[in-house]
Amino acid sequence: MFNAVQPAPPDPILGLTEAFRADPNPAKINLAVGVFKDAEGNTPVLASVKAAEQRLVDDETTKSYMPIDGSPAYGKLVQTMLFGADHDILANARARTANTPGGTGALRVAADYLSQNHAGATLWLSNPTWANHHGIFNAAGVETQTYAYLDPNTNALDFDGVLAAIQDIPAGDVVLLHGCCHNPTGVDPSLEQWKAIASAVAERGILPIVDFAYQGFGQGLEEDAAGLRAVAAACGEFLVCSSFSKNFGLYRERVGALTLVAQDSDTADTVISQVKAVIRRNYSNPPAHGASVVTTIMSDDAPGGLRSQWEAELAAMRDRINEMRSAFKAGLDERGVNLTPEGNDFVTQQNGMFTMSGLSKDHVAALRENHAIYIVGSGRINVAGMTPTNLPVLCDAIADVMQ
Ligand code: PMP
Repeated sequence: MFNAVQPAPPDPILGLTEAFRADPNPAKINLAVGVFKDAEGNTPVLASVKAAEQRLVDDETTKSYMPIDGSPAYGKLVQTMLFGADHDILANARARTANTPGGTGALRVAADYLSQNHAGATLWLSNPTWANHHGIFNAAGVETQTYAYLDPNTNALDFDGVLAAIQDIPAGDVVLLHGCCHNPTGVDPSLEQWKAIASAVAERGILPIVDFAYQGFGQGLEEDAAGLRAVAAACGEFLVCSSFSKNFGLYRERVGALTLVAQDSDTADTVISQVKAVIRRNYSNPPAHGASVVTTIMSDDAPGGLRSQWEAELAAMRDRINEMRSAFKAGLDERGVNLTPEGNDFVTQQNGMFTMSGLSKDHVAALRENHAIYIVGSGRINVAGMTPTNLPVLCDAIADVMQ
């Protein structure tokens, strides 16, 4: 039977990493995959994570199964990170959280939940969006459509386009909003724009899903939750897909969460029962390690404890990315290279690991063929992969291919 199987196309992003590994050029640079790197180009385990893992080694008493939706302590903690401890959603027990394998797991569980409980609802995704979004939802049988997002002349938000698109989405459909650090553009709405988007979504009767994979990578843990909290203020029902891959550096441990918020606690119980049914049939119950690390760190909130250590490590990652943004813009300016007709200011106005550079497919191909520099075909560059060493090489190469 296997002889008739055709090979699947390579994943657009992970496939590039395979091509990068195979490239013999010693000066090659990988700015494709979305992984934070330090100034030496490494992705180390955070010291707070190492300390938490040591505690787990010493104190863990069982490897028996987790509950289908993970540990209640983890769920509470995720909700507190999302909304703040005093939020009405927590006070009235309107949220339920399932620990999922990564943000991808949260999205896939959300997709299966939608297809099994809201048949016929279409999911609306920003254009562009993270390459895997369409695939995850389509694989679960949820149809996807796109809404306008980026103004190509300025590489800034096409706010009027977003609002107009939302006003055309039929009631009963679902819209995915990136909580912060939009992937792949780095372009986020301002708080005022978030409020307007959230009101439009509420008025239309559309269910929002907030994909929240970068909390703390933009402006700060609380600041980055402002958009989500604007959605919470306007919309009585929504889903949140969290990932702790980036902000805890726990990529391979697969730790994330699906949080549902309902109008009241009884409805939340009903909806989580359906989410748990989805999980049971999919992976049964989540891996424990990553979530235990997050719980250990976040619960140690005394001064000088693991939580403050982690917050300092997170701030250092965020600061390094922002330093690279400034240095990248300066490097382009010095070489007289303009990535948009309006210059390069957009680079420092965007948030998070990525910038949509505006480089064309031909530029991307020339960077790879002539300079062994790997970026995604759409022109997305991982700013968190830039280092003081590779940055001048990158800027020279961009100046070369844009000549
Ligand atoms: N959503 C977005 C927007 C992402 O960028 C990513 C990771 N690249 C994910 C979800 C998935 O996160 P995880 O690696 O935790 O599955």
